[in-house]
Amino acid sequence: MQWLFRPYHRQFQQPLQTQHGAWAVRSGVLLKLEDEERVAFGEITPLDWFGTETLTTALAFCAQWQATRVAGEVDRADSGDGLEAELAAIPDHLPACQFGFGMLLEQWFYPQPERSPESQPKHSIAYLLPTGARAIAHLSQLTPPINDSSPCFKWKIGVATWADELAWFRQVMAALPPGARVRLDANGGLSWDAACAWLAVCADYPAVEFLEQPLAPNSVREMQQLGDRYPTPIALDESVATVRQLEQCLTAGWRGVVVIKAAIAGSPQRLRQVCQRYQPDIVWSSVFETAIARDYLLSRLIPSLTPQPRTLGFGTEHWFADAASSGRSPQALWETL
Ligand SMILES: [Mg+2]
Repeated sequence: MQWLFRPYHRQFQQPLQTQHGAWAVRSGVLLKLEDEERVAFGEITPLDWFGTETLTTALAFCAQWQATRVAGEVDRADSGDGLEAELAAIPDHLPACQFGFGMLLEQWFYPQPERSPESQPKHSIAYLLPTGARAIAHLSQLTPPINDSSPCFKWKIGVATWADELAWFRQVMAALPPGARVRLDANGGLSWDAACAWLAVCADYPAVEFLEQPLAPNSVREMQQLGDRYPTPIALDESVATVRQLEQCLTAGWRGVVVIKAAIAGSPQRLRQVCQRYQPDIVWSSVFETAIARDYLLSRLIPSLTPQPRTLGFGTEHWFADAASSGRSPQALWETL
């Protein structure tokens, strides 16, 4: 049996502007476990400005894991016990590693028969618009119309002045295709007053599906108050970055939507347990992972929890310079990325 890992770097076509600054390159680590009979892949997608470990820390952990495991230790005979013991050894400050190894070992110990692309579950996907005024021109150039009766778009806010953004927002709403919905994402960048101002405007636009993370991550109680006061639903994202934080918010009585970036939330097995217990209203979201992590999410994790999920926050592949990579097999991605 052979265990391998390698870093990858994917350039965005243009840097993604977020409340945390510009993001130009998505870096991560691919994991591979194989013997004569089978192969499993995993992926670590750190997002340190979102609170995960850095790429350097993840690579150091992989090197340590490789150095301290003798080949026989990860063996089919260990089955479920082996899986749990391996995963329990990964500390909570490495949530992206917990996910990467969690998906790798789950698929290693519990392989599923390969499915043809036609038999994969079909999901509708939210389309991430460029930030700021560029979204308006982008929407007007969308041809042919998106093949979806209720297309869903996501737009970042909290990145310019209120006056500019309000004017752009009204133009974005006017430029939407018929039946479309919009998710606004503030990445925790609004003050209480700014959040109230946005929600007062959104009240006139039922096409706003929700306002995502208006306030700082630790302001969950205030965000519950916003959700109770205005008609537009509030979604938590940064506040529920890890399984532990998600569980804390749900036990504290959070009643709104939760955006789960499973690839950086920690162990997918623990995430499954928490979601089965509390049944939250979930939007599954991407952290610009490759098809390796995405296929695990779409074909294993998500169907096991939300058979008919809200529109997925996965409409991100067109952001990459190498967008053609999306259709490749795990082995092809391993060889080419
Ligand atoms: Mg968000």
